[in-house]
Amino acid sequence: MMINLTDMKTVRSILGRHGFHFSKKLGQNFLIDPSVCPRIAEEGNAAAGYGVLEIGPGIGTLTQQLALRAEKVTSVELDQRLLPILEETVGEFENLHILHGDILQFDVPQLLEQEFAGLHVAVCANLPYYITTPILMHLLESGANIDSITVMVQKEVAEKLQAPVGTRNSGAITAAVNYYGTVEMLFTVPRDSFLPPPNVDSAVIRIDVQKRYADQTRDPQHFFSMLKHGFSQRRKTLVNALSATMHYEKPVLLEALHAMELPETVRMENLTMEQLVELSNRLSGATA
Ligand code: SAM
Repeated sequence: MMINLTDMKTVRSILGRHGFHFSKKLGQNFLIDPSVCPRIAEEGNAAAGYGVLEIGPGIGTLTQQLALRAEKVTSVELDQRLLPILEETVGEFENLHILHGDILQFDVPQLLEQEFAGLHVAVCANLPYYITTPILMHLLESGANIDSITVMVQKEVAEKLQAPVGTRNSGAITAAVNYYGTVEMLFTVPRDSFLPPPNVDSAVIRIDVQKRYADQTRDPQHFFSMLKHGFSQRRKTLVNALSATMHYEKPVLLEALHAMELPETVRMENLTMEQLVELSNRLSGATA
């Protein structure tokens, strides 16, 4: 019979028996709200025909819900102390493979090929918040064939990721993620849904991965470099920021802005996704 990992008494007894203490450093806040994990699994494409990659299974609360629905689940956990606990809590699932390691050290396309050949792939996770952005970029930049990424993140990060590019709340990460797909905020999760409760509220987002802007971008490396530099000095005008950081001559930048009918005082944060791509295309052909 499946262990109820949202029952506090059961969870405390398992953790106590294994002498487990939470690591703040590894972002260990385990879900204990019974409604959240089934929802992540359902909205995250955990279904027949799908292989699901889970990052950071913890004690296996979300893992159970994924393994009940998906064809196969592979969960990567960095904390070795959790492996014997997972053996006890989710060891019964024959479609589950637990790997020990740091997700950032895995070659993602190779991992997915090895684990999920012939299946559609989705990523589902309650992410460790200290490395939310590196994990998302590691998955997206890898070019791996992933249909969707459904993850719990800090609420403020969710709001930033789903803000339209070119509005005040958006940033370099918003444009970077939008380059690879569309972002939707699914639902918010209060801090008391976790053990121990974190200092912030959370939200679940889904990124539907598509080759949205990749085909239109002349030099992706230039595009990402321009985002990094332009947003690192976001209070400056785009002309001042890019001339200082990417060493463009100001007339080159002004010529691009005039051609795009943009004011000379425009900032990077004012540009829409289409304008960012067009600007990068114009500049990547120009001399820096
Ligand atoms: N999925 C569980 C849940 O929802 O209850 C646990 C989520 S907890 C927020 C994050 C998990 O990620 C922890 O189990 C932590 O040990 C693990 N973790 C932290 N850094 C990691 C990394 N670089 N690679 C893989 N797992 C990691």
